[in-house]
Amino acid sequence: MEFSQYDINALMYVTNRPELVFTEGQGMWLTDHQGKRYLDYLQGWAVNCLGHSPQCIQDALAVQAKKLINPSPAFYNEPSVALASLLTDNSCFDRVFFTNSGAEANEGAIKLARKWGKKNPNAKGENRFEVITFKHSFHGRTLATMSASGKPGWDTLYAPQVPGFPKADLNDLASVEKLLNEHTVAVMLEPVQGEGGVLPATREFMQGLRELTKRHDILLIVDEVQTGMGRTGELFAYQLSNVVPDIMTLGKGIGGGVPLAALLCREEIACFEAGDQGGTYNGNPLMTAVGVAIIEALLADGFMQAVRDRGAYLSTELKKLSAKHGLGTERGEGLLRALDLDSEIGPKIVDMARDMGPVGLLLNSPRPNLLRFMPALNVSTEEIDQMITMLSDILASIKG
Ligand SMILES: *Cc1c(COP(=O)(O)O)cnc(C)c1O
Repeated sequence: MEFSQYDINALMYVTNRPELVFTEGQGMWLTDHQGKRYLDYLQGWAVNCLGHSPQCIQDALAVQAKKLINPSPAFYNEPSVALASLLTDNSCFDRVFFTNSGAEANEGAIKLARKWGKKNPNAKGENRFEVITFKHSFHGRTLATMSASGKPGWDTLYAPQVPGFPKADLNDLASVEKLLNEHTVAVMLEPVQGEGGVLPATREFMQGLRELTKRHDILLIVDEVQTGMGRTGELFAYQLSNVVPDIMTLGKGIGGGVPLAALLCREEIACFEAGDQGGTYNGNPLMTAVGVAIIEALLADGFMQAVRDRGAYLSTELKKLSAKHGLGTERGEGLLRALDLDSEIGPKIVDMARDMGPVGLLLNSPRPNLLRFMPALNVSTEEIDQMITMLSDILASIKG
């Protein structure tokens, strides 16, 4: 592919990419190197919670870059303290450790749980270290978080795995109980499995898990890398089921597009000692200044209600589309939604939507019989209508 004097094969091959180079983004829209525009329902995989290049991120970066970029994680800096305070003031958690990716936040959550399990040993005085996770879960791409993930094939891809992550079935409390043993220290789950295909944990299951983990004195860890920061219509998805978890991780939306993630816990769990955890870029002011701008936007009057309203609207429109074309069920929370297709036409729809003209549509198919929708949280109803019309045209041409 020709797009400049540079060679795309200078990049290491890790996945198949379309022959496109995106050069600009604004709100729900992306523009490629040939000037074609695309309505973007991926938003960097639920990352750009305020759309592409929102003014508040441009301003936060420009102001902070002039002031201070990195004093080192050995010193306090203003934006990281401000963002930690905003997160603890608006959640059930008391302490925050910032990281650069969701996987790194989850890696930290696993370390924190293991440290806590060492300080709170079993009746025989042995360390507790096993973290029960779930089939089809996704927690990241480091060795430990891949081992924690329930993605088919990942158990052998970079074998041997990091031990200590038995897998239960989502929404099946008995399957969790069966895995409990004297070495169990925590249960970790996504309140809505994102990569697994937008599969929500039920309110009853979340409450049952909280009750079970409390009764056995083990930790409840919620991986809200995808569901947090307003995505599900609440600031955090654990709030949907009124449970109080012990540890939470955030990523994706917290940075609105820049690399920022976080590990949060309640005071009684915060057991790291000096030197136990760290990282060169962790909590740097350039990224955390963006985080402050993002959470202030989410906390503004009426913002979350608008997310709930648009989530309900998208759900209604997808249900109508499904009825019209004879597709399957629609599900999700807030603006993390999925539509079951009646056959494995997902990848074909994704290709056709992207390649249609004069304007393209970017969609995601995490499983071949499923489409996932992750628009910006400030998507307009017109942008929802436009997507539905484009998708309806594609379905009509595929299904004849
Ligand atoms: C994306 C994701 C991760 C990994 O985050 P990275 O920033 O890609 O490391 C972890 N957990 C969940 C639930 C995710 O959706």
